[in-house]
Amino acid sequence: MKKLNEAKEKIKQNAYLFLIEKAIDSQTGRRILINQFSKRIQKVVIEEGSKTKLKAVQQRKSQWIKALLKQFLKNYEKGYISRHAAKKGLEVLGLNNFFSSSLSEIKKAKESFRNKYQIDPPAFLVISPTQKCNLRCKGCYAASSSETKATLPFDIFDKILKENHDIFGSRFITISGGEPLMYKSQGKDLLDIFEKYNDTLFIFYTNGTLMTEDLAEKLAKTGNAFPQISVEGFEKETDERRGKGIFQKILRSMEYLKKAGVPYAVSVTATRKNVNTLLDDEFFDFWFEKQGANHMWLFQLMPIGRGKEVFDLMPTPEERIKLYRKWEQLLEKGYPVADFWNSGVLSNGCIAYGRSGGYFYVDWNGYITPCVFIPYYVDNVYDLYKEGKTVAEALFSDFFKKGREWQNKYGFARPQKAKNWLMPCSIRDNYRYFREAILPDDAKGEDSFAEEARNSKEYFEGLDKYDKKLKKLTQPIWDKEYLSEKNKKSKVED
Ligand code: SF4
Repeated sequence: MKKLNEAKEKIKQNAYLFLIEKAIDSQTGRRILINQFSKRIQKVVIEEGSKTKLKAVQQRKSQWIKALLKQFLKNYEKGYISRHAAKKGLEVLGLNNFFSSSLSEIKKAKESFRNKYQIDPPAFLVISPTQKCNLRCKGCYAASSSETKATLPFDIFDKILKENHDIFGSRFITISGGEPLMYKSQGKDLLDIFEKYNDTLFIFYTNGTLMTEDLAEKLAKTGNAFPQISVEGFEKETDERRGKGIFQKILRSMEYLKKAGVPYAVSVTATRKNVNTLLDDEFFDFWFEKQGANHMWLFQLMPIGRGKEVFDLMPTPEERIKLYRKWEQLLEKGYPVADFWNSGVLSNGCIAYGRSGGYFYVDWNGYITPCVFIPYYVDNVYDLYKEGKTVAEALFSDFFKKGREWQNKYGFARPQKAKNWLMPCSIRDNYRYFREAILPDDAKGEDSFAEEARNSKEYFEGLDKYDKKLKKLTQPIWDKEYLSEKNKKSKVED
């Protein structure tokens, strides 16, 4: 029976790959692909998913995936995405989301991880190979500048990626920074990585100022690495935080990418200063319709790094609710936007601590933290490698285990009774619990700002107050719009 199911799954997978070829070359093929994809989403996400998860949660996921596919194909038809990149993107999107259990290499790696550690592996990792950056933005979470020099040596960077590929069976990597395009070590740069791991999809966050025509063409050739370009709003907001003239440089870079056929996304940090821009349709129409972005990330400013000095820039709980409602409207309009803290339903809550389907983070010093936004670590890659271990061992520190225990209790292990995924974050939205029950004494701060935050009464009280207010505003929405009648009665209280 198992073999029969595997064979059936293999046939479906081959049919999907065949359809991609057709979709790429004809409009009829694209219509059929969207149709088939929608049916698959209906079956996997809505019908099967709703048996174990909340239906309203599954509906949001379905809207997001459909919007992502539509925007991608729309940009392909406009000529902004090359055939090669379109094929690669669609393969990874479909195969990793709906068929990965039938890809034998991936399946073997996942099974062997499960047998060894008794949990499923994370789906991806985020890695910042260098802290160097050519800009100096106000409130940068990485506290980067051109004077900060920490960089992972290429052989270490490569070894971490190989472990992600072979041990976790992952085919997805996010590269952050610093500015990743400044990465150089042992005569190699990011392109060497993209070429080597050509079965893996990379997204990399960039300030967009170092893109050239030549680099865009090289990225088109590898076809597996998509830039996520940071903006703050329109020209005024972007230049105010990032520096004069940056917005125009970004637009120029986007032209290079479209000309070469490389899909890209836009990443925005929401602050109290630009929140009104982010509540206006004009902003999203500009990036999606006029500029051809494929999707958009919204990160609400996190007061870490130099951000602790700019606590006041963090959007208020009331503004966060407005952004949440805006996000709902945008999905309904068909724009694939993910707001990192308001879209917790898309990922079944917090994805940190290397949880199944989630991720963990390795920074430029080799420190292994549960999340880009949790600046504390117990292990670092250099010590692990000296002891003959792998990065996988870092997932079993008390720190990571306690984080996963919290995620499970909060809803990941019982998604129909999730507490409140409108406040999914273990650090920002549940800071008191994070400090009292997750962060161990032996965890060190990634930098002096993280240590200062840990020792600051003001920081603790500031986030705790934010969380209490946010709970008052979000819990009624969660209870009314997500939890079913039956689950509302049996909901476990805090
Ligand atoms: S800790 Fe917060 S920011 Fe990090 S993955 Fe979890 S929800 Fe997201």
